[in-house]
Amino acid sequence: MDIVKGNMGWIEVIVGPMFSGKSEEMIRRLRRAEIARQRVQIFKPAIDERYAANEIVSHSGLGIPSDAVAKAAEILEKVQPRTEVVGIDEAQFLGDDVVDVCTKLANLGKRVIVGGLDTDYRGRPFEPMPRLLAIAEEITKLLAICVRCGNPAVHTQRLVESEELIVVGAGGMYEARCRRCFEPNLAQLSKEPSPFLAPSARAAGGAAK
Ligand code: ADP
Ligand code: ZN
Repeated sequence: MDIVKGNMGWIEVIVGPMFSGKSEEMIRRLRRAEIARQRVQIFKPAIDERYAANEIVSHSGLGIPSDAVAKAAEILEKVQPRTEVVGIDEAQFLGDDVVDVCTKLANLGKRVIVGGLDTDYRGRPFEPMPRLLAIAEEITKLLAICVRCGNPAVHTQRLVESEELIVVGAGGMYEARCRRCFEPNLAQLSKEPSPFLAPSARAAGGAAK
């Protein structure tokens, strides 16, 4: 990235579906900042308790300590003046306020690295990520591998029945799918067992594995 260092802050956004490597990429950037002896603070929403409450953990098992926050404003309270780099993972769970928080931090001269899902389980833009993308200096969009066909996957396929926007879950509730294999209405098709779910998953009422 060609952004000149100095007192100026900026916003880097990392988006993509689940399993696309957003957390890995976030951890990679934050580790490098730490190696460069920059002061780093890392946050994630308290709602995401996959694996650990005080750690960002990728699906491949990489981890980095983080601070769990109940809402975006808490990040502003917790960031210390001398902090140079702020990482925020799973920003789609922090609501619209996270946009203001990132803007304030960047205006204070901090490098803000923020990751999150850009689309929801139906393939719709997942607020507030689109707004973060609009104001960011740098955008990285990652893709996963479609578990059905092996093509690049842009979508997060929900495998369980629910029309809630947020269903935080561990193994088997979501998988990566390409645009051809993605079934946005699968979560509503509970009465007709999907041929795309494994028989064991169908027996369990739609929950995979
Ligand atoms: P994200 O934060 O985007 O959910 P993670 O960084 O947590 O992604 O995990 C990425 C890792 O997930 C990959 O390096 C790989 O080991 C694993 N993985 C599991 N399923 C898939 C898939 N369908 N496509 C790509 N990677 C996958
Ligand atoms: Zn596919």
